[in-house]
Amino acid sequence: MEQIVEVILPLPIRSNYHYRIPEEWRGSIMPGQRVLVNFGRKKIYTGLTRKLISSDELTVPLERLKWIEGLLDEGPVFNENYLQLFDWIAFYYSCTPGEVFKAALPVGLKPESAMQVEMMPDLDWEALDLEDKEYQLLEALSIQPVLGFKEITDIWDIVNPMPRLKTMAARGLIMIYQQVEDRYKPKYKTYLKLTENFQEEGRLSDAFDGLSRAPAQENLLLKVVMAYQQGQMAPKTETIKALGISSSAVGALVKKGIIQEEDVQVDRLALSGYDAPPQEITLNAAQQQAVEEIDTIFSADKRKPVLLHGITGSGKTHIYVHLLKEAIAQGKQALYLLPEITLTKQIIDRVQQELGTSVGVYHSRFNDQERVEIWHKVRKREYDVVIGVRSAIFLPFQDLGVIVVDEEHDYSFKQQEPAPRYNARDVAVYMGHQMDIPVLLGSATPSFESFFNAQQGKYGLVQLLTRAIEAELPSIELVDLRMERKKGQVEGLFSKVLLKAMEEALGRKEQIILFQNRRGYAPYLICQTCGHVPQCINCDISLTLHKEKKHLRCHYCGYTELNTQKCGNCGHYTLKWAGIGTEKVVEAVETHFPNHTVERMDWDTTRNKFGYQQIINRFENRQIDILVGTQMVAKGLDFEHVTLVGVVQADHLLSFPDFRAFERAYQLLTQVSGRAGRSQKPGRVIIQTLMPDNVVLKSVQQPFEQFFQRELPDRHNLHYPPFTRMMRIEIRHKDRNFIEAESKRLDSIFRPIFGQYLLGPDYALVARLRNQYRMQFMVKLGKGLDPKEVRKALSEAIERYYESAGDKTLRIVTDVDPF
Ligand code: ADP
Ligand code: ZN
Repeated sequence: MEQIVEVILPLPIRSNYHYRIPEEWRGSIMPGQRVLVNFGRKKIYTGLTRKLISSDELTVPLERLKWIEGLLDEGPVFNENYLQLFDWIAFYYSCTPGEVFKAALPVGLKPESAMQVEMMPDLDWEALDLEDKEYQLLEALSIQPVLGFKEITDIWDIVNPMPRLKTMAARGLIMIYQQVEDRYKPKYKTYLKLTENFQEEGRLSDAFDGLSRAPAQENLLLKVVMAYQQGQMAPKTETIKALGISSSAVGALVKKGIIQEEDVQVDRLALSGYDAPPQEITLNAAQQQAVEEIDTIFSADKRKPVLLHGITGSGKTHIYVHLLKEAIAQGKQALYLLPEITLTKQIIDRVQQELGTSVGVYHSRFNDQERVEIWHKVRKREYDVVIGVRSAIFLPFQDLGVIVVDEEHDYSFKQQEPAPRYNARDVAVYMGHQMDIPVLLGSATPSFESFFNAQQGKYGLVQLLTRAIEAELPSIELVDLRMERKKGQVEGLFSKVLLKAMEEALGRKEQIILFQNRRGYAPYLICQTCGHVPQCINCDISLTLHKEKKHLRCHYCGYTELNTQKCGNCGHYTLKWAGIGTEKVVEAVETHFPNHTVERMDWDTTRNKFGYQQIINRFENRQIDILVGTQMVAKGLDFEHVTLVGVVQADHLLSFPDFRAFERAYQLLTQVSGRAGRSQKPGRVIIQTLMPDNVVLKSVQQPFEQFFQRELPDRHNLHYPPFTRMMRIEIRHKDRNFIEAESKRLDSIFRPIFGQYLLGPDYALVARLRNQYRMQFMVKLGKGLDPKEVRKALSEAIERYYESAGDKTLRIVTDVDPF
C-alpha cells in the first residue's frame, strides 16, 4: 500500500489525475500544495494537490501512474475551505476544477514547461547541404543557442513549425526538449556604494585627489559618499540623471575599485506605503444608524449577507471603511471588491486616509509579475486590507473578517470569457456562508436579484436614503428632442435647454459631465444611395467610424478598414454616419464652447496603464471643464465641482434586446445622475431623448424601490430572474450549415431533460463573431428543477452528444447566470 495524491491540473479536463509520491516527499505532501507533474505528451504543468488516497483505492494498476516531478510549496497555499470553494465554483458554474484553479492563481505562480530547441553539439552546420528554412534556424541557433516555440515561428514565419522541427531532429541537426521556466522574474534596481577599501577616510581623500580633473566622477563619488554617511546606497539611474552625467563615470569609478554596483530586489508595489494617523470621520445620524443596523444583523447571524441600499452620495464608502476597520481591530483581514472602473486612485486614497494604513490593490491593469507579489503579501499577511477587482476574491487570505462588494449590481463582477464564468459577488456570498465571513453588498441601484433576496429575508436590508451633505438629490429633467426640434430649439446634438445649462454652469466656473454610451465618432455608417451598412468581415456587426484615427473599426474583434466614404456595395461616395459616439460629442462641444477645455474618457482614451487616472486627475484639478464619456463617467466618481450632468441621447440604452435592458438603463442613468451636485452646490441632470414617455426615463426621477416594484410583475410573469435562474448554452462553429444541423441534434438531446424550460436554439445577439457562428439555448431554471440534477444531466448530455457526433469540432460553452 502506498500513499497516492490526486492533482487538479490547470486544464479543461473533467477529472483530476493521480500521481505517485517519491520517497523523499512522502509525509510532506498535503492537500492544497502546488506540484509539478507530467501530463499528456511530455509536458510539465503546475498542479494543485486535492487529496491523498491510498493505492488500494485506485482503479488502475499503480505502475501506470506517473510520479510527482517537483514540489513548489512547503505547506498548503490553499486551505481546505478554499479547495471546497473551488469545487463549488466548478459545480455551480458548470466548469472543471482545473479551470477554477487556473483562474485562481496568477500565471507567474503556475510554471509550465515549454518546448526548447538547441543545435546538436559539435555540428558543423555550415558544411551541410541544407534547405533554406533549416539554414535559417541553424544560423539563428548559432547566435542564440536556445530558441522557444514563439521565436521559431517568428523566424520561419509559419504557424506550426513542429513537423519540420521533428524532421530536423530526426536528421540529427537539433535537439527538442521540454524545460520548466519560472515565469516570475523578480525586479532589481541597481545601487552604488563604496567598496570596503575606500570606506576609510584616508583612502577616500586620496581618491578625491586623484579625481580633480574628472569632475563628473568627482561629483558622483561625492553623492555615493553622502549616501554612505547616512547608511545608504545611491540609486544608480536617479543619481546620474540628477548630476546630468553619463554612466561611463560609474564605469570609471568601478574600474578604479572605488565604488561597486549592487542589485537589490525591489517591490513592484512600492507605490503605496501610506502612513499617517487615520482621518476621523464623524458619521451623520443616518450613517450611524445604518452602521448599527448592519452590526445588529451580523451579530445575530454572521452568515447572513447584508444589502446596503444607499442612494448616490449618501456616504456608503464611510460605512464600508467602518466595517474594514472593525475587521482589522479583530485581528483579521478584509477584502473590498469594486468594479474595474471605479477602482481609482481617488478611492484608494480615501480608504487609506480613513484607515490610516496602506492597503493592497489588485487591479486588472496590473501585470502578472505585480499580481504574484501582491499574492505573496496577502498570504504572508503583509496586507490587512485589499481593494480589488473580481479576481481578488481568489487571493489567499488567511483569515478574512469581512468582504465588502461595492456597486454589487455591476456587470464587471461577472467573468465572461474564459471559464470559470463566475460572478465575484455571488462567490463572495457563498464564501461568506461557507467560511463564516460577514458579507456586505452595497449599491445605489441594487440588482433585482439582491433586492429580491433582501425582500425575501435571505439577505438583511439596510437603507440609506438621504444624501450625506446637502440633503437634495439633483433635479432630473427630460428633454423631448423631437418636440424641441419642431420648435427649432435644437442645435446639432444639443437642445437649447442643455446648451443654456452648460453656459450657466461654465459661467459659475463649475464642471460638466456629458454621457453618451457609444465610443468612436458614429456607431455605424449607411449608404445614402443603396442603404448598405459596412460590416466587419469577421463578425455580424456594423463598423464604427473613428474619425480621429481615420478608420472604421469592429468593436468586437478589432478589425479595421480605412474610411473612404465610398460604398463597398454600390460604389457611390455617399456613406453617411448615423448615431452619436463620444468623438462626435466632443467635436460638437468644441464648436459650441471653443474657450473651454473638453476631454473624452472612454475605452480608446484610457487604454494605457495610467490613461484613466490621468484624465481623472486633470478633471479633479479642474484642467478640464467638460468631460465627455461612456459609462466610465457614470460610476463612482466623486467631484465636488460637477453640477451639471447631460445625457446626450438616452435612447439606445432603452432598446437593448434583453430582459434586463430596463434594469440596466435605470442603473446607468441613476448612476450618472448621481455624479451631479455631490457637495454644497445643487446639481442638475438633463436627459435628452426621442422617447420621453419610456417608463425607465420616467422612473429615473423616482426612487429605486418604486421602479423595482413596477418591473417585478413582468419578471414574474415571464419567468425571468429573480424568480428563476438562467443558464445559457452557447455553441460555436465556423460553418453555418453545420452549426444549424448540430443545434437541432442538441435540441433533441436537451429537450427531454429541460422540457418547457428550454428556449432556442436561436442565433446569439451577435450571430457571427471572429468568424465563428454562435447559436444559443436558454434554460430557465424554475422551481421545478433541482440545480444539482440539472447540471449533472447537462454534462452527461453534452458527453453523449460528443460520443455520438461524427465531427467533434463544435464548441459548447455553458454560462450560468449570464448577463
Ligand atoms: P456614495 O458612495 O454613497 O455615493 P460617498 O461615500 O462617495 O457616497 O460620499 C459622498 C460624498 O459625501 C463624499 O465626498 C464624502 O466624503 C462626503 N461625506 C459622506 N459622509 C460624510 C460625513 N459623515 N462627513 C463628511 N463628509 C461626508
Ligand atoms: Zn469583427
